[in-house]
Amino acid sequence: MDMIKFLHMNGGNGDASYSSNSGLQGAGVMKTKRAIEQAISALCHNFPKTLVMADLGCSSGPNTLLVGSIVINAIAKTSLEMGLEPPEVLINLNDLPTNDFNTIFVALQEIKGNSANGTHHQPSCYFTGVPGSYYGRIFPMKSLNFVHSSYSLHWLSQQPQLEEINKGNIYLASTTPESVSKAHFEQFQKDFFSFLRCRSKEIMAGGRMVLTLAGRTTDDPRDEESNYIWRPLAMAIEEMVYEGLVEEAKFDSFNLPWYNASPKEISNLVRAEGSFTIDQLESFDLQWVAWKRKKDDNDASKLNETDDPRVGLYSDVAKAIRAGVEPLVANHFGEAILDDVFTRYEKILKNRRCNKEYEAVISVTVSLTRKM
Ligand code: SAH
Repeated sequence: MDMIKFLHMNGGNGDASYSSNSGLQGAGVMKTKRAIEQAISALCHNFPKTLVMADLGCSSGPNTLLVGSIVINAIAKTSLEMGLEPPEVLINLNDLPTNDFNTIFVALQEIKGNSANGTHHQPSCYFTGVPGSYYGRIFPMKSLNFVHSSYSLHWLSQQPQLEEINKGNIYLASTTPESVSKAHFEQFQKDFFSFLRCRSKEIMAGGRMVLTLAGRTTDDPRDEESNYIWRPLAMAIEEMVYEGLVEEAKFDSFNLPWYNASPKEISNLVRAEGSFTIDQLESFDLQWVAWKRKKDDNDASKLNETDDPRVGLYSDVAKAIRAGVEPLVANHFGEAILDDVFTRYEKILKNRRCNKEYEAVISVTVSLTRKM
C-alpha cells in the first residue's frame, strides 16, 4: 500500500480531528524545546540574513504553530542577546499532499498577524506549504538551515513486505514471527536512511536538524512497551472477525506502516549514512495520565468534576489514536466499521490488566549537525 495516498491525520478542527487530539504530541514537542533553542542559537551565531527552516510532517493544528513559535522566539531571544537585528525566517511546512493544509493556512494568520514585518527583535516570518513525502527530495540543494520533525518518522513509507502472516496482530507483538519484526525494521532502516540522504543534500553545511519520533527503550520491538497502544486495536478488530463483521483475510493483511526505533538503531543509521554528527540523543516518556491531568486542568468545563485523571482517560486516548489512524483503517476495512471498532478499542483499553507504566508514549529525540 502506498502511504502517500492513504496516510494522513484527521483534518479540520472538529472533535475527531488531529488538531483537537494531539495534546500528547504537543507535550512531547515542549520536552524538546531546549534542543530546538540550542540549534537555533547556534545557527544565529553564524549571522544568516535569512534563516530557512522546514517542519517535516507538520500535520495541521496547534503543534504546527507551536514549533513555529518556539523557533521564532528562539531567534528573537538570541538576536537580543547578541544585540543584532534578527534574521528573517522562512518556515516551510511539509506534509503528504492529502494533509489538511487549508486549516494550517487559516490558523497561520494568527502568528502572521503577530509577527508580520517583525518588531525590533521579532523576526519577520514567511510561510510556505510543501506537499510531498520527505522520504524523497522536497527542497533544492543546500537551501535549508534548520529541519524539525516531530512524531512523524515512525510512519513508514509503505507497509513492510511480509513473508509470514502476523496472525492476530496489526503491529509487532509478543506473538509476531521474527521475520515480520525483521521486515518492519528493514523498512524503517531503508526509509530513515533515505530521509537522511535527502536531507544531507538539502541542508547546508553546519545546518541543524532536531527529530523526535515515537520509539522504544527495550531491545526487542515486540515487547509490550512498544505495542501497548496497537495491541488493543488488533484485539478490537479480531473481536469483529469472530462476530463475522470483518473478513479474516482483511484482518490478516492489515499491518500498520509503523516502527518504534531505539536510540541505538537511530545512532547506527546516522553513522552509517555519514553526513551528520549527533549532538544529542535521548529518550523520554509521555505518560497518558499526566497528559490527561493537564488537559483537564485547562478545561474550564471540567473544573467541578472529579480530579481523578483516569476518568475519561481511555476515551481521550481512543480519540487521539483514532485521529491518527482513522484514514488508514477506513481505507483498508471501509468506513462502516469505524465507530464500532473504536468503541471496542476504548473498552479494551479500559479493561486491560497490564503494567500501568506502559501507559505512555516513548519518544526518541536526536539533534544533528550537517558535517562541513
Ligand atoms: N508534527 C506534528 C504532526 C505529527 S502527525 C506533531 O508533532 O504533532 C504525523 C504527520 O506526519 C502526519 O500529518 C502525516 O501525514 C505526516 N507524514 C507521515 N509520513 C510522511 C511522509 N513520508 N512525508 C511527509 N509527511 C508524512
